[in-house]
Amino acid sequence: MVKKQGPCCHCRVMSSPLWRHGPPEKPVLCNACGTRWRKKATLDNYTPAPQVQRKQPKKEPGCRIVKKQPSSHHNL
Ligand SMILES: [Zn+2]
Repeated sequence: MVKKQGPCCHCRVMSSPLWRHGPPEKPVLCNACGTRWRKKATLDNYTPAPQVQRKQPKKEPGCRIVKKQPSSHHNL
């Protein structure tokens, strides 16, 4: 299951109705940027309609790998 998701590599928008392919350096584009990229083949100086974006540190649920540690109970 491959689901394209943001953030957009160009405008950093986190949600878009549709994620699009972009240039190799920006493989994931939002709908607006992707459309622009397809039409103009450039994203220079392009900023989609401003979105409300709060500046906050990246908070992503980290991958929690729970290792089963060998039990320290020894039957002697
Ligand atoms: Zn974008």
